Amino acid sequence: MSVRVRYAPSPTGYQHIGGVRTALFAYLFAKRHDGAFVLRVEDTDRSRYVPEAVDDLYATLDWLGIVADEGPRDGGDHGPYVQSERIESYRHHARQLAASGAAYWDYSDPDERGDRPYHGEGRAMTAEQVQAARDAGRTAVLRLRVPEVGQTEFHDAVLGRVKRKHKDLPPDPVLLKSDGFPTYHLANVVDDHAMGITHVLRAQEWVPSTPIHLLLYRAFDWEPPTFAHLPMVMGKDGAKLSKRHGATSAREFRAGGYLAAAVINYVALLGWSLDGQREFFSLAELQRAFDLDGINKAPAVFDYKKLDWFNGQYIRRASDQELLDLLVPHVVGAGWAHDPPTADDRRRLLQRLPLVRERLKTTSQVVDLLRFLYRDVTDWDPALLVAKGQSPAEAKRALELARDALLRHGVDDEQRIDAALRAAAAAEGYKLGAFMLPLRVAVTGAQHSPPLIASIRELGVDVAAQRIAGALARLDSAIPRGDR
Ligand code: GLU
Repeated sequence: MSVRVRYAPSPTGYQHIGGVRTALFAYLFAKRHDGAFVLRVEDTDRSRYVPEAVDDLYATLDWLGIVADEGPRDGGDHGPYVQSERIESYRHHARQLAASGAAYWDYSDPDERGDRPYHGEGRAMTAEQVQAARDAGRTAVLRLRVPEVGQTEFHDAVLGRVKRKHKDLPPDPVLLKSDGFPTYHLANVVDDHAMGITHVLRAQEWVPSTPIHLLLYRAFDWEPPTFAHLPMVMGKDGAKLSKRHGATSAREFRAGGYLAAAVINYVALLGWSLDGQREFFSLAELQRAFDLDGINKAPAVFDYKKLDWFNGQYIRRASDQELLDLLVPHVVGAGWAHDPPTADDRRRLLQRLPLVRERLKTTSQVVDLLRFLYRDVTDWDPALLVAKGQSPAEAKRALELARDALLRHGVDDEQRIDAALRAAAAAEGYKLGAFMLPLRVAVTGAQHSPPLIASIRELGVDVAAQRIAGALARLDSAIPRGDR
């Protein structure tokens, strides 16, 4: 029997990183076993439907390189792959359950219940009461008849044995709503069966639904799939990952300058590991390495710093052309290159890659790092120009010495200018850091910048000297007259 796995998101918002994790694991499991990865859009809850969510889903999967074998865009033998196009099938199966007695039409009045939970009112109605309700024009919902005694038990590929007493399940869950639309339980089970799904990989939050689904499989006399419930994704504080912790949607990570390969690699480790050691995996490597036995039960903690680290690693490993392609959109977005970029724009940025490659955690940071090359620096915060423990006059003197060294030696020979700056600092008793800081701020406008001498070379000595002059004037105006 060949493996068939599905990712079945509900289009209620932008793809959450937890959803990406589910999609990735399902995809990897299918690939690992030469099976099919099926995409199914579960859009029967019309009240929560968000039209952009479907486009966002496709954009996310395309960005990450998670390719469906079957789905709304790809077609396949088990379509349609959008639940709102399968309503007839759910109604047909609903009638079948009603006929067999596994489910019943509940004519009780929800208004009469108010806020109280359902307690089997419809199940207890007599034939006369049902008739009266129908005569009054009330529409029914179809409910699963959950046995009052006993329990449902299953083997989860991650969690092991899971059992739930029937008396602890939600009482008689609705399968078909009064508007004729199925609930998640009915549509999900009917489709997993119709689509030949062999393995259901989904987040642990669905565990409470699984006994209900198993009761449905039994009612239909269908073989249930193997379930593998994936660990929850938490923030560092142990709460379910949410906006409070930071970015949560794939699109935010993408816009924030994360590489697809880094996101894939990091997300793969959210609840899975090969041997507890190896950290780097490409998507192709994951397809060979992934399996259910590497999935943890314990919640996975989403560590933003670790993701940044992975992203930085992937940026360092990218080829010049790859990195250029990743950075160009940000430079265009900042208005520093034409849209679309010209060959000249690209050449200039290519030349600047060595300045940023080692410093970027996200590609979007290129804008802050390279601003001083694309935009003039015309104002300096005197407080930033002065190193810690340094007087403004000392900062001034350091700037003058540095300018002289630059003008004397030029920056083409980085080693010579480095030696000259060190010598000037030492000669007047400056610590190197305290000597360089005013120069860095004068030239780049910021205390953190790409490597300084390479930055000055890229900028040109003349422009650097102008900026130093500007910074000196700014310091002058900040120093009380008597101290100059
Ligand atoms: N549509 C459900 C969701 O939004 C699917 C859950 C499942 O995989 O069974 O996650």
